[in-house]
Amino acid sequence: MELLKQAIRNRGNVLSNQVLKVDSFLNHQVDTKLMAEVGKEFARLFQSDGITKVLTIESSGIAPSFLAATVLDVPLIFARKKKSLTMTDDVYVSQVYSFTKQETNDITVSKNFLSAKDNVLIIDDFLANGQAALGLIDIVKQANANVAGLGIVIEKSFQDGRQRLLDLGYRVESLARIHSLENGNVTFVDELASIK
Ligand code: 5GP
Repeated sequence: MELLKQAIRNRGNVLSNQVLKVDSFLNHQVDTKLMAEVGKEFARLFQSDGITKVLTIESSGIAPSFLAATVLDVPLIFARKKKSLTMTDDVYVSQVYSFTKQETNDITVSKNFLSAKDNVLIIDDFLANGQAALGLIDIVKQANANVAGLGIVIEKSFQDGRQRLLDLGYRVESLARIHSLENGNVTFVDELASIK
């Protein structure tokens, strides 16, 4: 998605060969117009798949998921990273190791909001090693629901999350695929042919 790639190029900061900071439009300040376009693109990609729920994880997954769920006309659920005092319902729980925070958190979703009838589109901001995605998939499976596919805003293709998910048979739609962050430069997968 060209608009997103431009934002990454112009407004992203490469913190290391592994980590990209995008808190000016996605992870802290939110560019709502860009996130609306991102959400619409996810909705377009999954429009024929009979999606009944969009599932993401707080907090950075919510902005790009919002328009996807709006256009698909289905509810948006975000998994919680901290159990809320008001969350007295039965919950599905999965453990997720955070790539950026280097700690393991329980993520939870109320059993009221996912059931065996659901066909779920999972959306997240980044795909690195796939831990967040696998945690969300685990929650969908606990509900005996179906994973229709995964929508990822920024995939770091040099890490193994995508391959892990493909090996498990899941459809992965990433709107920007980063080949490398080496030497402070962002190279996208679809630019490789033109560089050579
Ligand atoms: P994974 O679970 O696939 O290893 O990592 C994905 C999660 O870690 C995302 O939900 C995102 O919050 C965070 N993450 C992974 N890599 C990056 C990165 O380069 N930049 C930012 N801002 N977050 C990342």
